[in-house]
Amino acid sequence: MTPMNKIRKVLIANRGEIALRILRACKELGIKTVAVYSTADKNLKHVRLSDEAVCIGPHPSKDSYLNIPALIAAAEVTHADAIHPGYGFLSESADFAQRVEESGFIFIGPRADNIRVMGDKVAAIEAMQKSGVPCVPGSDGGLTEYATQNTKLACDIGFPIIIKASGGGGGRGMRVVEKESDLLDSIELTKTEALNFFGNGEVYMEKFLTTPRHVEIQILADEHGNVVHLGERDCSMQRRHQKVVEEAPAPGITTELRNKIGSACADACKAINYRGAGTFEFLFENDEFYFIEMNTRIQVEHPVTEMITGIDIVREQIRIADGQTLSFTQDEVHIKGHAIECRINAEDPNNFMPSPGKITQYHVAGGLGVRVDSHIYNGYTVPPYYDSMIGKLITFADTRLGAIIKMQNALDEMVIDGIKTNITLQRRIMDDKTFQKGGMNIHYLEKMLGAH
Ligand code: ADP
Repeated sequence: MTPMNKIRKVLIANRGEIALRILRACKELGIKTVAVYSTADKNLKHVRLSDEAVCIGPHPSKDSYLNIPALIAAAEVTHADAIHPGYGFLSESADFAQRVEESGFIFIGPRADNIRVMGDKVAAIEAMQKSGVPCVPGSDGGLTEYATQNTKLACDIGFPIIIKASGGGGGRGMRVVEKESDLLDSIELTKTEALNFFGNGEVYMEKFLTTPRHVEIQILADEHGNVVHLGERDCSMQRRHQKVVEEAPAPGITTELRNKIGSACADACKAINYRGAGTFEFLFENDEFYFIEMNTRIQVEHPVTEMITGIDIVREQIRIADGQTLSFTQDEVHIKGHAIECRINAEDPNNFMPSPGKITQYHVAGGLGVRVDSHIYNGYTVPPYYDSMIGKLITFADTRLGAIIKMQNALDEMVIDGIKTNITLQRRIMDDKTFQKGGMNIHYLEKMLGAH
């Protein structure tokens, strides 16, 4: 491992398991760490393990983890060289990336202009189409005011269609339209909502795919024009657009198909001069990929890719930000075995209500091929203010069935008392015959839950 050129100290602008994940990567690279935390988070594990820690404000995210001046000030007083944004919070804020760099720090992520383009769905789709990444049939850019034109467009695409806000995110700002008579009202409604939620009234139209799978491609790009893809992940097991279980590789994807779509994503990165880690999200139906969005950050589910490739994605992010070249070529990326990730949430497994509180007993699963990425510990109190995910359980085996069996055993071994968790739900999923077959579409989990 080559020593760092510029990065000697990293400020971790996040909390929870991803903050700990980043801290671990920094330690392995010999980089000092600065943790930042809200007043509700002083007992976070990574805060205790970091070299320095700075309280950046009270518990509401807007006053702490989303507070750009507080974060920059913390980097200044601790003399950090770089800032890692993790996922969520400011990770996809082009303004934050810009402010970080303007203040003289390295942003561990893409350039602000890349983040900005990908944050605008219409612009992102346009960029993808130009580089030959397959997109969902739809309007060429934002919709116009013209009713007849929009009606003709929808009829040409064929109902059902979906109206989506260009500035949308987090599963909001979308409306499915089943028939022509509902079209014009739906466009107006989505426009109004988009303006209110996202401050951008632009909407566009896509064919609504009825039974797609969610398959995404992980890429890494350095500043020297090298881009590799690390294959795909299947994240079709979702509830309310939230991923619950992820796996890699995606069942049924051939090497040929993987390489074809992976190369298209890598080419798109080269075309836009992308830097860092990124994920191209696709809907996958009848053996065809349809691009929906690009995430310009590390993702929650990155560990399944790490397990099947042996590549530490967070370490590569830091090395790339340090100006180094990727430590491997596409030919050196080998996919081996199968990995599954179960998100562990502090929530009631029956009604999905968050269940914060003190963990009174914690026994963690272990063994060959079992990985636990979590910040919780015995006696830790899960605060009520943030996302309910408290960790990720990841298993790796030669085969998909092997990974499922390991996951069943690992879930049985886990003990988290004092709060409710979704471990029993995850156990049910692992026992489900359809899940065991693989290749479910994005509606399957909700159907399975409804049927219970
Ligand atoms: P967001 O940024 O809000 O997550 P996405 O564009 O990623 O929005 O879409 C979120 C989800 O909405 C997708 O994972 C999928 O379930 C559904 N979706 C979006 N576009 C389509 C489409 N054209 N056909 C079917 N489902 C879609």
